[in-house]
Formats: sequence, structure tokens, C-alpha cells
Amino acid sequence: MTKQTLSFQAEVKQLLHLVTHALYSNKEIFLRELISNASDACDKLRFEALDNSALYEDAPNLEVRILVDKANKTLTIRDNGIGMSAQEAIDHLGTIAKSGTKEFVGRMSGDQKKDAQLIGQFGVGFYSGYIVADRITVESRRAGLGAAEGVRWSSEGTGDFEVDTIDKPTRGTDIILHLRDEEADEFLTAWKLRTIVGKYSDHISLPILMQKEEWDAEKSEQVTKDEWETVNQAAALWSRSKSDITSEQYDEFYKQISHDSEAPLAYTHNRVEGRSEYTQLLFVPAKAPYDMWNREKRGGLKLYVKRVFIMDDAEALLPSYLRFVKGVIDSADLPLNVSREILQESRDVKAIREGCTKRILSMLEDMAHHDDEAMRNKYAAFWREFGSVLKEGIGEDFANRERLAKLFRFASTHAAEGVSLADYVSRMKEGQEVIYVITADTLAAAQNSPQLEIFKKKGIEVLLLTDRVDEWLLSHLYEFEGKQLQSVAKGAVDLGSLQDEAEKKKAEEAAESLKPLLERLQASLKEVTKDVRVTTRLVDSPACLVTSDGDVSGHLARLLKQAGQSAPDAKPTLEINPEHPLVKKLDTSEHFDDLAHILFDQALLAEGGQLDDPAAYVRRVNALLVTAAV
Ligand code: ADP
Ligand code: MG
Repeated sequence: MTKQTLSFQAEVKQLLHLVTHALYSNKEIFLRELISNASDACDKLRFEALDNSALYEDAPNLEVRILVDKANKTLTIRDNGIGMSAQEAIDHLGTIAKSGTKEFVGRMSGDQKKDAQLIGQFGVGFYSGYIVADRITVESRRAGLGAAEGVRWSSEGTGDFEVDTIDKPTRGTDIILHLRDEEADEFLTAWKLRTIVGKYSDHISLPILMQKEEWDAEKSEQVTKDEWETVNQAAALWSRSKSDITSEQYDEFYKQISHDSEAPLAYTHNRVEGRSEYTQLLFVPAKAPYDMWNREKRGGLKLYVKRVFIMDDAEALLPSYLRFVKGVIDSADLPLNVSREILQESRDVKAIREGCTKRILSMLEDMAHHDDEAMRNKYAAFWREFGSVLKEGIGEDFANRERLAKLFRFASTHAAEGVSLADYVSRMKEGQEVIYVITADTLAAAQNSPQLEIFKKKGIEVLLLTDRVDEWLLSHLYEFEGKQLQSVAKGAVDLGSLQDEAEKKKAEEAAESLKPLLERLQASLKEVTKDVRVTTRLVDSPACLVTSDGDVSGHLARLLKQAGQSAPDAKPTLEINPEHPLVKKLDTSEHFDDLAHILFDQALLAEGGQLDDPAAYVRRVNALLVTAAV
């Protein structure tokens, strides 16, 4: 190949511009990113060498070296991992923007610290070198290729890059950073580099080597010796004993594998023995990632077999509703050449999945029911971030339904958040047999729903479900500890023995005496209602809408419409409050028809619905306002 100059792909250019102009408040992260790439490259070599040990080229000890050249102001990160062919260097370092790049550019906030941390999350780590360098040269040779098939890639990180063929006897990659003048002092200082390595890369399982330095009294300066020493712990963190690991080290490890900038909310680290032998180190993040809703997203666990990295995002290791969990599984039983397909079927993997699920659920239960209030608050924070995802478990994980249901938290007429089903049951009224719930688009709509009036009056608690997945949840979670969940917006209100005989009698009498009125209303509203009847559920409002037991609720119908799906057109029933002055005067009013429609439209508005013909509603109300004004 002759030397050629190529242009960066458009989104890469944009990204480079941002990196060089905006990210300078947390400069040192570049080293973490480059070491992490070196470590990935070694993992890849080890993995490919399982089938082809010749790739080791008689140098089986994988390592990373950091070289400081003060005279030329360069810092080099050298690895003897898989390396890159010329085409790979062109593709991976310049022309193929990864899917995350565009997203990253779109999410840059202008807040440098936050943006610098985002960089890792979106997998655009290599370019972070341009935070400190005004030129990066990469010299690489892919393992297995001849010494003459090395590549030199070089760029100032602006419009284009050069590639050329070089001789490179040793496999692997050198990333040579030509430091900007103003960065050179700091990042060519050995102790500074060691501190950064200790902070971010201590647990990388490869040795990271630097040359020893010694104080030269004659020259009165530090001189570099020709002797190398390992500057990190170089032991896979999860294989060390729990008691030797500080919580800071767990936090750093989590940040490294998750690319999260915040410490995790909780973690669990265990060696499991028995039918299947493995180590698990699992983290629950503090914040939900931007793409949590993507159910296609693979799980967050890395799979190792006897310390050898096998794959990222091994989705078979956890059920999908726990896809927010990050961590590492290191199995002692699986074969090294295991593939995703094999994982799906393996009995060992099934045991691991069950084991991990149990661990996570126990960890959550522990937080939720802890004596310490701070821990319970942690659980509340967890629920706010991940509650909606955890709810998916009720349909997905039959074996753990009961444990999951106990972990769920809701709003209710009693408290704006954090109500568990067990709390609810413990507060049920004497004679109350079911758990009352209402679904709505927002908490305010649920709280002010006319359907709750009788429940409020009688002091009966109702769960307020306003999460998009709640309608779905109700179709899977129909009972808790033998108590049915019942929507207060469906079917005739039946308070059972919570209602006294006198009230029941009064309602029956009202229904009887209002029969002619109900028939008139039904005739007026036959286009829009299924039925009109008298109710005892209302206290202050004149009317409300309810759906029949088998029908799709108004709320669900709206959700389906928003999602672009068609909802079966089920007409609601209009229920009227016989005690309301408007209802009492209705029969004798000369505006009967207008009032009937207004009653219906208002009931629809009150539950968060949209009027089919808002202009007609306004016209009717205005006509009545005119008569009121004169
Ligand atoms: P990521 O590590 O998330 O893939 P990076 O921007 O850090 O993203 O790296 C881009 C790609 O460049 C890597 O996926 C890899 O293919 C290649 N690469 C970077 N550094 C090295 C290296 N030291 N050895 C081999 N390939 C590398
Ligand atoms: Mg990387």
C-alpha cells in the first residue's frame, strides 16, 4: 500500500471538533480510555488464540507499557494484543462512525465534565487522546500478519488522516500521543501517570508496566532507568477476596465496566459453588442509562471463563427485566469456545441466570426492608429509576412473581409514592375484600378523578397507577396475598360490605324514581354511551364515565392511540350522581339536550380524555353562559 490521505467520516469530524474544543476539564480520562482499548485488544488476542495458538508468536505474556519521551514530548501506550491491519485502522479509527457517535454528538450539553464522562459511555474512547495531543500516531500490526504488514496511522484530529505501510516486527499497537505544549509537563511526569493508572486501571487484569525512575543527585533530576515495573495490581478484581477490596475499588471497577460516571447504588460479590461453579460481581447503577427502554438492548454482564474474557453483554445470564444490572460472571464450568447460541441452551447458564436473579432480588429486598432509613431511601431511589423495568418481571419471571410483587411501589390516595401492596393490605378497612386501583395518565388526573370521590369520603385507600406499563401490569398482576386488584373505573362500583344497608336502599330508590330521566339521557346520548345509570360513587361531581368489565379502559385506549395502535371502540357508561343539584334540575330544564352533552363531555375531560368535537362543547357551554348572564 502506498501512503494515502483519507478524510474522516462526517460525524467523526464533528466529534473530534468537540473533543478538542470542549473537553478539557477532566483531561486524564484519555489514559483510562487508551488502556481500556489496549486491554480489549489483549482480550481479543487471547480469545482468537484459543483456536490458533500461533497468534501468540512466541510472546504469550500479554501486557501494556507506558513510555515517556520527554525530549520529543510524546507519551506512548503500547500493547501486544491483537493489533490492527491497515484496513482495520482505516475503518475503526476514521471512517466508520460507530452507532454511538451520532448520539454522543447530539447529547453534548456544553457542560464539559458531564460530556467528558459521556465519551466513554458512547464508545468513542480513542478520540479522547486529542484532549491532550495535537497529533496522534498509531503504529500497529495485526497478530498473524507478516512483519512488513504493519500500518502507521497519523492525524492531527481535524479533517483527515494518513495511512502508510510500515515494518513492525512485534504484533500489537503503539498509540503515540504528541502532547500539546501546555499538557506536556503534567502528562510526562511519571508519578502523575502512576496516580492516574492507580485511580482508573488498577483492576485491569493485565500488567501495566512503566520504567523505573531514580533521583540523580549529580544532575539533580529524576532519570529514567532501563528497568520496568508493574504499576497496577494486575489481578482481576472479582477473583480477589472481598475483604481485600475497598468500596472505592468496587466503585472504580464499576465505572470502568459500565462507563458510568456515578458510583453504583449497590453491589454484590460472591463465589458460588455447587451444581455450577462461578463468581458473580453484580452492580445496580444509581441512574438509568439513556437507552434503558430499548428491550433489544443486550444485558450488561461480561462473561469470563476461568479469567479469560469471552463476551460483553451476555444477555443469557440475566432475564430481560434485569437488563440494567452491570457486572461480571466468571464461570469455572463453561467451555472457552462457548458461543451466544450455546449459552441460550446451556444448563450451567440456566443455573447462573437463576442464581444471579435470586441475588439481585435479595439485594433489593434487603434495601427495601432495611432497618436503616438511609437504605430504604436508597430503595426508593432505585424504584424511581428502575421500577418500570422491574415491573416487566411479573410477566416474564413466573417463579419470582411473589417476590417481585412485594418489591413494587405505587402512589395511592394515602401517600404520593412508596406504597407497597403489603402496606396497602395492612391498611384495608374492616370488611374490604379487594385492592382498589385506578389508572390515569398523570398523578394529578388520578388524584382528582371523580371516580375516587366515594372512596375518599369513606377513607378507603386506592392505588393510583400512572406509569405507562401499569395497564399491562394489571393484566398480569391480578391478585396479591389472595386479594384481587380491582379498577374503580370498571364495572358498577361494588363496595360490598363497606356500604351500609341504608345507602344501598337509597341508591335503589333513586334508580327507580329516576328511570324516566335515565331513558331521556340515553336517548340524547345514544351515539356516545352504552348505558346511563345512577351511581353512589360520586360525591361532588355530577357524572363520570366507566367501562364495562371486559372492555378496554379509556386510559388504555388513549395509550394505544398514542402508540399508533387501534383500540377497540368500546362506548363507556355514563353514571350520574342523583344528589347533585344539576342532575336534580335536569329533567325540567329547557336546555336538556345541551346539558346532557355537556355532562358527558365534562366526564370525559375529567378522566383526561379528549373531546371528539371540542367546538361543539364550547358552543353549548357559551349558549348556557349567555342565559346565565342575563
Ligand atoms: P471502543 O473501544 O468502544 O470500540 P474506541 O474509540 O475506544 O471505541 O476504539 C475504536 C476501535 O479502534 C476499537 O473498537 C478497536 O477496533 C480499535 N482499536 C483502538 N485501540 C486499539 C488497540 N490498542 N488495539 C487494537 N485495536 C484498537
Ligand atoms: Mg475504547
